[in-house]
Amino acid sequence: MLDADFFHRWLTAVAVLVDREAAHLTELDSAIGDADHGSNLQRGFTAVTATLNKDAPQTPGAVLTLAGRQLISTVGGASGPLYGTLLRRTGKALGDDAEVTPAQLAEALRAGVAAVAQLGGAKAGDKTMLDALEPAIAALGDTTASFAAARDAAREGALATVPLQARKGRASYLGERSIGHQDPGATSSALLLAALAEVAA
Ligand code: ADP
Ligand code: MG
Ligand code: MG
Repeated sequence: MLDADFFHRWLTAVAVLVDREAAHLTELDSAIGDADHGSNLQRGFTAVTATLNKDAPQTPGAVLTLAGRQLISTVGGASGPLYGTLLRRTGKALGDDAEVTPAQLAEALRAGVAAVAQLGGAKAGDKTMLDALEPAIAALGDTTASFAAARDAAREGALATVPLQARKGRASYLGERSIGHQDPGATSSALLLAALAEVAA
């Protein structure tokens, strides 16, 4: 079973990975965007961990909805509302149980990813974070062991954005010139799944 502390540790691990990879994320965004993806997420997840350390919500759902709200209010770029929606919608789907199963989390994340697709109007193959998130939720199952499969699927999905042409977001303004670069948001989504696998291990 996964309790509020597990979700708190997950988001703290995301913040650590985002700090470590911030320069890389910004470098990817400088090729096909506006060179702020690393700093956007650093600002967002720093605020998330500060709020969680202060408030310590008591349920998994409350941890995720509070984190999502923080991302929306602190990240100005496209990724703030999108990741904020992912966490808020996933948290809402978990309800107010004190502990949830891996299967419940998998189902809730499916609702969260569907909300991201609805908000951004993107689908798989558009060279966005969905190219990592969708394979990840497809790989999630009923056990914490499936988190490692989801991590691998997200990483492969991010790498597979390189030959794609961007159809959504700033990178789409480049048209064919977006081909040949890895999508920053798909890369950061892979970090979210890497952190999940890490805290469950
Ligand atoms: P901005 O582009 O506003 O500067 P960021 O650099 O923080 O925002 O985030 C860019 C990432 O957001 C992209 O690499 C892409 O993965 C994701 N993204 C942008 N638009 C969309 C969308 N409509 N749907 C899903 N993801 C998107
Ligand atoms: Mg950007
Ligand atoms: Mg920007």
